[in-house]
Amino acid sequence: MKQGFATRQIHTGHIHMPGINPLATPIFQTSTFEFDSTEQGAKRFSGEEQGYIYTRLGNPNSNQIGEKLAALEGAELGMAMSSGMGAITTVLWTTLRAGDHLLADDALYGCTYSFFMHGLTRYGVEVTLADFSNIENVKRELKANTKAVYFESPTNPNLKLIDIEAVASIAHAHNPEIKVIVDNTFCTPFLQRPVELGADVVIHSATKYLNGHGDVIAGMAAGKADFITECTMFGLKDMTGAVIGPFEAYLISRGMKTLDIRMEKHCKNAMAIAKYLESNSKVKRVIYPGLESHPQHELAKKQMHGFGGMVSFELNASREDSAKFINSLDLCTLAVSLGDAETLIEHPATMTHSTYTPEALAEANISESLIRLSAGLEEAEDIIHDLEEGLKRI
Ligand SMILES: *Cc1c(COP(=O)(O)O)cnc(C)c1O
Repeated sequence: MKQGFATRQIHTGHIHMPGINPLATPIFQTSTFEFDSTEQGAKRFSGEEQGYIYTRLGNPNSNQIGEKLAALEGAELGMAMSSGMGAITTVLWTTLRAGDHLLADDALYGCTYSFFMHGLTRYGVEVTLADFSNIENVKRELKANTKAVYFESPTNPNLKLIDIEAVASIAHAHNPEIKVIVDNTFCTPFLQRPVELGADVVIHSATKYLNGHGDVIAGMAAGKADFITECTMFGLKDMTGAVIGPFEAYLISRGMKTLDIRMEKHCKNAMAIAKYLESNSKVKRVIYPGLESHPQHELAKKQMHGFGGMVSFELNASREDSAKFINSLDLCTLAVSLGDAETLIEHPATMTHSTYTPEALAEANISESLIRLSAGLEEAEDIIHDLEEGLKRI
């Protein structure tokens, strides 16, 4: 029998140490691993024998969370890296070479945008951005040399949804070799499983919900075993070197044990906050996939198992008053990042998405007055009270 999500998030990847039998995972704080003989060392390097060699090539703590993520995403194999950007660069450097084309959605995490537009293009990769919420744009922009299709859903920071099943089937009909890559950071596998919807690779900033406690920078990816092995043994080993430390991997494993109950509360709080904001006349617009007013609410119900913990909104106020509102908040913390126990609030145009020019922001339909809130795990009434006090001051 296939175990349920909660059981897998806790038990998958348990490390057995006969004779000691620790319940919690020990931290394998070692850079290298001893061989019994030169013959064994040679066999490990040639792949004839399984086993650890050196932590850049694999470590029990990083392998454990890779296994856990794969089990939760419905993927064959998973891997961990030192940051979300480490995961994105490792997967794309493994996939692309000069002359290839990358087609990506136009609303991306700011540093992903910068890596695509200012990084990959330096090395002869052709990059096109298009609005994937209109599937016709995806059809139109696919080329003979397209090797990867990349997007987030919901997008950071404007919470636009992209039909994962539709994009994957169009890309694969065009060329079955295309890697459809989805950044699933905002949803986690508890709310959305892109691989089960036809995507080839799923990527996470594990810094966010997978860890959930705001004390780690980490990234992960999962997909088909042969591709993830290539990402590990070439992309990570030789190209990026974005290796996660054993202690960070241990913290992710600890955080993932409570992923489902945290996500349920994040969703519940975000819905209450979104409804409150929508009812306040000082708020011009609220974007939350769980609201009937979200233009893709039906798609959210179809491809997500909950609407997430992120809420974006704009005020009926000047730029100065919007800043005054954010500055006046007490419980909601002014900080980038998301997915933590604490409610975090930020201004994307000048912070997480300052890598976009004003023109690029407009083109991607990211309003310069947009405020992004990551609903924490506090009492919803307390968060709403804080927002209410802030709105009274403008
Ligand atoms: C934060 C974030 C990233 C980058 O992850 P890091 O762990 O900060 O490197 C990538 N994608 C999304 C959607 C993010 O929110």
